[in-house]
Amino acid sequence: MGDNNGRNFVIGVDLGGTKILAGVFDAKMQLLGATKFSTKSQRGPEAVLERVARCIQDAIDECDLTTKQVRAVGIGAPGAVDPEHGEVVFAPNLGWKGVPVVKELEKRLDVPVFLENDCKACMLGVYEQELKSKPKHVLGIFIGTGIGGGMILNGQLYAGANHTAGEVGHMVIDVNGPKCSCGNKGCFEVLASRLALFRAIQTAIKNGEKSVLTEMLGDDLKDLRSGDIRKAIRRGDKLVEKIVAEAAEYTGIAVANLVNILNPEIVVLGGGVIEALTDEMMPTITKSAKSHVLPGTFGNVQIIASKLGDNAGITGAAVLAREKTR
Ligand SMILES: [Zn+2]
Repeated sequence: MGDNNGRNFVIGVDLGGTKILAGVFDAKMQLLGATKFSTKSQRGPEAVLERVARCIQDAIDECDLTTKQVRAVGIGAPGAVDPEHGEVVFAPNLGWKGVPVVKELEKRLDVPVFLENDCKACMLGVYEQELKSKPKHVLGIFIGTGIGGGMILNGQLYAGANHTAGEVGHMVIDVNGPKCSCGNKGCFEVLASRLALFRAIQTAIKNGEKSVLTEMLGDDLKDLRSGDIRKAIRRGDKLVEKIVAEAAEYTGIAVANLVNILNPEIVVLGGGVIEALTDEMMPTITKSAKSHVLPGTFGNVQIIASKLGDNAGITGAAVLAREKTR
């Protein structure tokens, strides 16, 4: 204790399209407390960064600390980021282009700030805090509103030439599939993300198929959440079960393609959809991956679900802050 002038705490921030999560971690990387704000991206980057700063300050205050005890802040942001220049280059779901996140936050907080892509941050968090055996090659796939990924290759987070490696969500799985937000057709994300599940369920119900979800939430399925999907399956909803099984099948195909390319020891699945539907999806994902992989190459690859859930992002961002100031 007492190193770095008593600044023993780090903050991990997960900046998403709908919410901002800030967590305070102690010297042993235990999460002391976290604060959540809505993002309100329609108000523009300046206002969102102000909210990020307030979310961080609230989290610090809730833990009875002051900014003077904070060593660094790590932040995971969606889209293409440039960690070296501390900039979000392009983030469609925030509506951002060339936003100097690090400079703006350091001005407001007077603490060093480090930026990373959100899924790479999640991968880092899972690797450092969850995979104690320290495998050399790991693939992470995070399924939430969208789908992103991260890779640990030779024990290091892999970034690629322009820091955009790991965009597994836009791997094309069905060239004749539905249109993706990126403009292509049949991307993994448009087949297996939370939005894909919701869309498939809503379309089927509009076409007259029956689901207990309409009893639970009304005909327009307002406020549908991943947890409702789990409840519907547990109540014997065949329609929802079939749609989730299809998404799991597609996820297995994505895993098989990536296992063929990377030959990892472990594949970790995380994100809100996997957290809510672990038991419903994991067996099918594993079975589908094994049946689509190049025969003889599956070896002992383990396919596991992350237990960090929604905290993977803040954990990874905090790990980043810790590593950069070690
Ligand atoms: Zn796409």
